Amino acid sequence: MAVNELQEQLYPTLKKYFGYEKFRPQQEKIITTVLNKEDALVIMPTGGGKSICFQLPALLFEGVTIVISPLIALMKDQVDGLRANGIEAAFFNSSQEAAEQQEIFEKVSQQKLKLLYVAPESLSALNDILKPTYISCIAIDEAHCISSWGHDFRPSYQQLGFLKKSLPEIPIIALTATADKATRKDILQQLNISHASEFISSFDRKNIELDVRPATDRVAQIIRFIEKRPDESGIIYCLSRKGTENLAEKLQKKGIEATAYHAGLSFDDRSQVQEDFIFDKTKIVCATVAFGMGIDKSNVRFVIHYNMPKNIEAYYQEIGRAGRDGLPSYALLFHTYADVIQLRRFTEGAANEQLQNAKLERMKQFAEATDCRRKILLGYFGELLAENCGNCDVCKNPPEFFEGTVLAQKILSCIARAKESEPAGIIIDILRGAQNQAVLENGYAELKTYGIGSDVSWRDWQHYLTQLINQGYCEIAFHRKNALQLTEFSKKVLFENQQVFLTKPQAVKEQQAQQTST
Ligand code: ADP
Ligand code: ZN
Repeated sequence: MAVNELQEQLYPTLKKYFGYEKFRPQQEKIITTVLNKEDALVIMPTGGGKSICFQLPALLFEGVTIVISPLIALMKDQVDGLRANGIEAAFFNSSQEAAEQQEIFEKVSQQKLKLLYVAPESLSALNDILKPTYISCIAIDEAHCISSWGHDFRPSYQQLGFLKKSLPEIPIIALTATADKATRKDILQQLNISHASEFISSFDRKNIELDVRPATDRVAQIIRFIEKRPDESGIIYCLSRKGTENLAEKLQKKGIEATAYHAGLSFDDRSQVQEDFIFDKTKIVCATVAFGMGIDKSNVRFVIHYNMPKNIEAYYQEIGRAGRDGLPSYALLFHTYADVIQLRRFTEGAANEQLQNAKLERMKQFAEATDCRRKILLGYFGELLAENCGNCDVCKNPPEFFEGTVLAQKILSCIARAKESEPAGIIIDILRGAQNQAVLENGYAELKTYGIGSDVSWRDWQHYLTQLINQGYCEIAFHRKNALQLTEFSKKVLFENQQVFLTKPQAVKEQQAQQTST
């Protein structure tokens, strides 16, 4: 068919096979690009409707569209879904029986098959049919996996660069829900499709309320949060396997039905947890990031990050699992320096350590920001939000600053007198006049600053200290056992009476949030 004839078929095909009357923003343009046999990179949020962008052209083209997807477990569901709509689809993997594979090859050579799903590892077994006579298009799903700059690098994706070289005439459509500018460029380069048109959809998920809180008393905060919404499904992400189990146990003790999920569980256990979650038998899953990829559940009402994710892409993708049905949903992120330190440890020695740390730094800035969260989040993906969103913690409870110069001076002089060699915990102990071993053994009880802050709670000191670090008045020496050190700005506060503005501690903020939210 000529391109204009194909064009005429767009709406009838959309209606006939998918049951929809209209395209969502971008879909039609993307499909037209593919039908013109041009390469495309599609960045669209999860649930945005990426699949139709290659499935519909596949139906109109002669030959088969190869869909490369990292998740073998999901291929079967996708293929079943397509078949239920009357579309000839199959998946291929190297563990299939020879007869089954043979049948696929035959269908391909008879031009009967429209879509063939395959994991990148199994691609080499398709050599015989990877020919322009058979193939109409190549779709690469979860394309961010090809880039070590992305957040979910998979070595098996790296070989995909050969596709454009060996099949230069066949259009490639690469799709992903998360890729910042650098990652997008890397994807195009590695796939050898640098000239591809990029289609970037809005990343704004207005129905998801964004909330960020310091991680003081996380478990208690989470319990209060869940108790307010007893019938809702949610995911709580933790950094470690142990973390998921500990948290699930603590919640269970409070009578909250929660299950742990991580890659250390058996395949059967994992499938069971997923299934129970999808069918609302388990409301809450405490999971590592292994959970959620490809889980198609529209009524996840909240995503909580017990620990901070390693970068903004991962955060965005994870919170994006909430509210796919468009109903009001909630994303709650806890942050603490302990997590940053832990995450930094993970990147140590990695080939792209610097890049990963820079991304972590952006994540940390997001968590500590005092501007509209959504503005920052969308800005990270290159999207400008003209107005504040009105649906984040900052918009709902703009931080109130007060003059905290004296508090700052107390902390900074304490750091100076402890010879810039002690971490935050000990500095606060000294301020509060604690009598523990670390304080007494080092003679800190003799310091002039010992006990000068006993009127402020431990937790509030922590809150003020975090802000001083954020504002650059002191810093953590990660390679010196996290000792607090002074900066050039410290001197201005200590000796030049520079004013410091701080926000109120968490307890006050949480009370305010409880009053305003349901
Ligand atoms: P993604 O792969 O981007 O996460 P999907 O392709 O799975 O998203 O689509 C998400 C949901 O949106 C699916 O249920 C799909 O059928 C639906 N959808 C896609 N395109 C349209 C459309 N044009 N009109 C209505 N619903 C659509
Ligand atoms: Zn906002």
